Amino acid sequence: MLLFIGLGRSDRGDTLHCAGCGALIARADDICRVMDRPPRRTYENPHGLLCPILTLARAEGLCLDDQASTDNTWFAGYAWRPAACGGCGLFLGWAFEAVVGAHPPGFSGLLEERLISRPGDTTSEA
Ligand SMILES: [Zn+2]
Repeated sequence: MLLFIGLGRSDRGDTLHCAGCGALIARADDICRVMDRPPRRTYENPHGLLCPILTLARAEGLCLDDQASTDNTWFAGYAWRPAACGGCGLFLGWAFEAVVGAHPPGFSGLLEERLISRPGDTTSEA
């Protein structure tokens, strides 16, 4: 089960965009906890590089690598694929998918520094 919580600086309705081209990637409402961890957390890759990511239940506009891998995964039971912006090709982070029926079946972990937050439109557009 996903618990949706917003970030302090983001209000519901805020949107997250690619820092390279401004394409819409996700909404603040999509920020979620995975495996009971905080949605904003820094992970270390095997090369010692620190990766501060946001976990998101949904993301759009991503171009995913063909190959999924479970090597050194940060989330046990999940394989990862590199994810780039479909608009400009900027590397944004990773898409994770369950390999053995873990729940949720998939989510994204995107680098915070590659995303820009824009305030949501408070006037009713829909
Ligand atoms: Zn982009």
